Amino acid sequence: FDQLNGEIWYDGTFVPWADAKLHVLSHGLHYASSVFEGERAYGGEVFKLNEHTERLHTSAEILGFTIPWSVEEINDATRTLLTRMNLVDAYVRPIAWRGSEMMGVAAQANSIHMAIAAWEWPSYFKPEERLKGIRLDMATYRRPDPATAPSRSKAAGLYMICTLSKHEAERKGFADALMLDWRGQVAEATGANVFFVKDGKLHTPTPDCFLDGITRRTVMGLARKRGIEVVERAIMPEEMEGFEQCFLTGTAAEVTPVSEIGPYTFQVGDLTKALMEDYTAEVTPKASAKVAAAE
Ligand code: PMP
Repeated sequence: FDQLNGEIWYDGTFVPWADAKLHVLSHGLHYASSVFEGERAYGGEVFKLNEHTERLHTSAEILGFTIPWSVEEINDATRTLLTRMNLVDAYVRPIAWRGSEMMGVAAQANSIHMAIAAWEWPSYFKPEERLKGIRLDMATYRRPDPATAPSRSKAAGLYMICTLSKHEAERKGFADALMLDWRGQVAEATGANVFFVKDGKLHTPTPDCFLDGITRRTVMGLARKRGIEVVERAIMPEEMEGFEQCFLTGTAAEVTPVSEIGPYTFQVGDLTKALMEDYTAEVTPKASAKVAAAE
């Protein structure tokens, strides 16, 4: 990171980027008691900031701790950070974790810490890759049963299998990997949700063991606005044979077309392209949209 002149909001104050450190005995590091968000600012405004901050609070509650800053305080801190850092199009990473007072599985007495970092952010997948569609590997690891892990929390611990899957995919020359769930049903990519198109309808897995992404819900709304039916259901991997188009959704991925998953191939079709455009229009702050239209 080349942000040496930047700042990070850390436990209620702004500290120089290089000074935002934590103790090596932090519970969050040893036992993954940490939750985070991935947000994106467009034209200086974080898209759906409040939903992200609320999800952060909920993720912490699911892991059994309460973030000692309110949703409103976190929202304000995020906005101030962007202003102080002069960021317009940026990625924002809030994170909360259990501190270092007690070392052991139990950590009820540990203080809760929080930080928010932000930096300028180009596209997650390279633009030229995006238009031809990205290629996905089939992941070795599966999304766990909700009875095995708190799958509705955006908890750091759940990303261990995502990093392993993404690394394996990249080693083999793929952009990302599609993960199945513990039942063998299609779940999601390592940091994004998945949609398929067939006969003019959208099909997407029911989010019962993975994140019901904010982008996922946004895109479902945009599709319905166009009169497109959205079917949430269990999808078996063999069904991918019959799907015509496929795309990923996520704060970082936005709407990213997929051309290939294992043996299955997909077209970057009109419906996918239309939703890419609708999403771009949706995230663009209305004031800048007006300025752009007037120019
Ligand atoms: N699944 C996983 C595993 C993710 O990390 C993300 C990104 N937060 C998503 C789905 C998409 O969520 P969102 O649209 O809220 O960014």
